Amino acid sequence: MSTSQPSTGGLPAAGGEQEQQAGPPPVPAQGGGGPAPAAAGRAPAGPTSLSPSRANDFMQCPLLYRFRVIDRLPEQPSEAATRGTLVHAVLERLFDDPAAERTAERARAMVPGQWDRLLASRPELAGLFAEDAGGERLARWLGEAERLVERWFSLEDPTRLEPAERELFLEAELDSGLRLRGVIDRVDVAPTGEVRIVDYKTGKAPRPEYSEGAMFQMTFYALVVWRLKGVLPRRLQLVYLGSGDVLTYDPVMADLERLERRLLALWEAIREATRTGDWRPRRTKLCGWCDHQAFCPEFGGTPPVYPLAVSPAGSDRDGEGRMGPV
Ligand code: SF4
Repeated sequence: MSTSQPSTGGLPAAGGEQEQQAGPPPVPAQGGGGPAPAAAGRAPAGPTSLSPSRANDFMQCPLLYRFRVIDRLPEQPSEAATRGTLVHAVLERLFDDPAAERTAERARAMVPGQWDRLLASRPELAGLFAEDAGGERLARWLGEAERLVERWFSLEDPTRLEPAERELFLEAELDSGLRLRGVIDRVDVAPTGEVRIVDYKTGKAPRPEYSEGAMFQMTFYALVVWRLKGVLPRRLQLVYLGSGDVLTYDPVMADLERLERRLLALWEAIREATRTGDWRPRRTKLCGWCDHQAFCPEFGGTPPVYPLAVSPAGSDRDGEGRMGPV
């Protein structure tokens, strides 16, 4: 794994879930426990597939995974996450223009229009700036988005890139039946057929000791591509717009096989928790970003009534230790 600043690109250009960097600041949920409504129109249900974000949720805190996947508790949009969505939209749509017109100036100019578009599709985001009578906070926030977009041009040159895919949704089923899914920001394919998977981050690059964790999402995508297309991506590339770093890794088959074993073990733990209703909270520094402290026993709260049927631990295993259906 390597970090460069800026990147020299790696693969020649020939032919292109997003994850947000920063969660919201703590926003107490309404009420102190007991029954809570799921997100509007979405009934509580057991998990059927795994994405990198939700896998990370379970590894961080099983109870957080439950709140998000099973209870589907609503969460407050944050300025940081929304800015990430806005920046991603600009970087994606810039490739609609002819190569020569993909300039930093053009990209910056797209920010207000893409914000209007985002607001039209998600009117609830207007609440982020509801108490910003003079519009100063919104102007500052849009300015930050423009700076992030501009920094991208010091890391990559979009006039020399023709992505094969952008915002690519992929889903693959493993032999075990586990479905993996994700959205890849950009896929580049070189004339040689070599594939590069690229993901943009609006936060800062992690310290070197945490870089392997940062690549978890990218190796996950590589595994999905391998399972779907039979192609081992040549390069995985994380572009950190917050700090102006590019993190790259060239995976080998052993990485994908190791990750697949890890995901199967994780999925087994998720299924067991789903059946038994035993979702343990795990208190860490990241709790400060959690929307659900009011429902969390670690913070004196009570989770909503578990909405699924429960059975004793291990009760679905057959005589050979295989997992039965959830
Ligand atoms: S507050 Fe912390 S321990 Fe509680 S659900 Fe959220 S992440 Fe888990």
